[in-house]
Amino acid sequence: MQQDAASTLAYPQPQLFIDGQWLDTGSRKTEPVLNPATEAPLAQLPHATAQDLDNALQAAAQAFPLWRATAPAERSRILRKAADLLRERVDDVARTMTLEQGKPLREARLEVLASADTFDWYAEEGRRNYGRIVPGRSLQQRISVLHEPVGVCAAFAPWNFPSITPARKIAGALAAGCTLILKPAEETPATALALVKSLDDAGLPKGVLNAVFGVPSEVSSHLLDSPIVAKFSFTGSTAVGKLLAAQAARTLKRATLELGGHAPVIVCEDADVHKAAEILVAGKYRNAGQICIAPTRFYVHAACYEAFLDAFVQQVQQLRPGSGLDEQSTMGPLANPRRLVAMEQLIAEALQRGAKLHTGGQRMQGPGYFWQPTVLSEVSEEARLMNEEPFGPLALINRVASVDEAILRANRLPFGLAAYAFTQNSATRNQLARQLQTGMLGINTLSISMPEAPFGGVKESGWGSECGIEGLQAYCDVKLVSED
Ligand code: NAD
Repeated sequence: MQQDAASTLAYPQPQLFIDGQWLDTGSRKTEPVLNPATEAPLAQLPHATAQDLDNALQAAAQAFPLWRATAPAERSRILRKAADLLRERVDDVARTMTLEQGKPLREARLEVLASADTFDWYAEEGRRNYGRIVPGRSLQQRISVLHEPVGVCAAFAPWNFPSITPARKIAGALAAGCTLILKPAEETPATALALVKSLDDAGLPKGVLNAVFGVPSEVSSHLLDSPIVAKFSFTGSTAVGKLLAAQAARTLKRATLELGGHAPVIVCEDADVHKAAEILVAGKYRNAGQICIAPTRFYVHAACYEAFLDAFVQQVQQLRPGSGLDEQSTMGPLANPRRLVAMEQLIAEALQRGAKLHTGGQRMQGPGYFWQPTVLSEVSEEARLMNEEPFGPLALINRVASVDEAILRANRLPFGLAAYAFTQNSATRNQLARQLQTGMLGINTLSISMPEAPFGGVKESGWGSECGIEGLQAYCDVKLVSED
């Protein structure tokens, strides 16, 4: 009943936002936006035409000189005002996110608030975008290093975090003095548009930020082929990241790529297994496992393997999958039917290769893209699941004989986004910090994502970082001025 009542709540009609204008569907092509908990259509999303994309490019190019010349304190004021508006609107935006993406309202609220914090943090960091003075070769020589905005940027955001990924790209670009054309995911347009609206309402000059939708490959080709765009930022799969990087190489655009992961978790023999299991279950099944930094491959020391596995499975069985609008639900549906097909195929193949199923493993009855929270153990390193990002509510638990073995196995994939470890031993912590090939490491914690710290991967998990001072520098060119 709760779901029926809630599903009648208004979902905002998505529009395009170009040169300060909100554009309706008109005669544009559309695609349906679906509620993943019910499979019911929420709205028709307009696709930008080639002319719309050219208009967005022109608008961003025209707005750039003005925005670049706008004092950092004024840019900061607008970002801060938008952050305040987002906080005021958190309940509506969170509900919109749950309707289009499926995650529980509690998670959606936290994500919107984290997006407001991201705006605030970049608002402040943009005011501290210091260059530096380098000592000259003579008394008269003065060497200055200036940080300048790269220019017009393009950003492509995915559907798993409909608010925080656009927020990082928008705030980084705007705080540095760049203008931006954003293509949020077509599955989750209205959340990203709520961010854009907060900036529009905060007084952002027209053309500084534009939002478009369409067939992803067509929109990205159009924008990346344009000489107007100086830099792009993409969050999504490694395969698509490589495609876009190759395309952008033709005009040598700068890039920030936040791509796939396959996070290893090392549980050492001295770990508090019950505490570790509690933290890891909460982290693994958040957003139904559709998180690039989700803990995925668990390497557990033989001495605590059985105890950890028991504690973990018990906790997973307490999870309550259901509509994100229902306050009792602790896990929502998968965001789209592609993930259901992937779950089915990946799990079947792992079982064929001898994996043990402890709980879950099936699609749930009824409408919506729900998959049972699943735990597999003794999964062969040859299984596709141990090599491809599962991106679903699925933990893979394997036994190891030592920390050395765990590190070796953790490092064997081309991914290097996040890694986690549970241990009290300081020598082991040092070894893990030195030897794990990863962009981010959480030891006794999964808390590795905050606006003030760099978020990014190594190896095929990406280029560069978002957030932290690195996230601002990613939107800047460096210029040397030598004076005599
Ligand atoms: P996908 O690879 O088709 O798409 C991933 C994202 O990239 C989507 O948001 C999509 O809209 C966008 N995209 C796809 N082709 C594009 C193009 N040519 N130009 C611009 N954007 C493009 O896969 P999917 O089915 O949407 O998601 C499946 C996989 O993607 C997951 O298994 C996961 O590996 C990865 N993914 C990663 C993240 C992340 O946070 N790093 C987020 C979403 C998806």
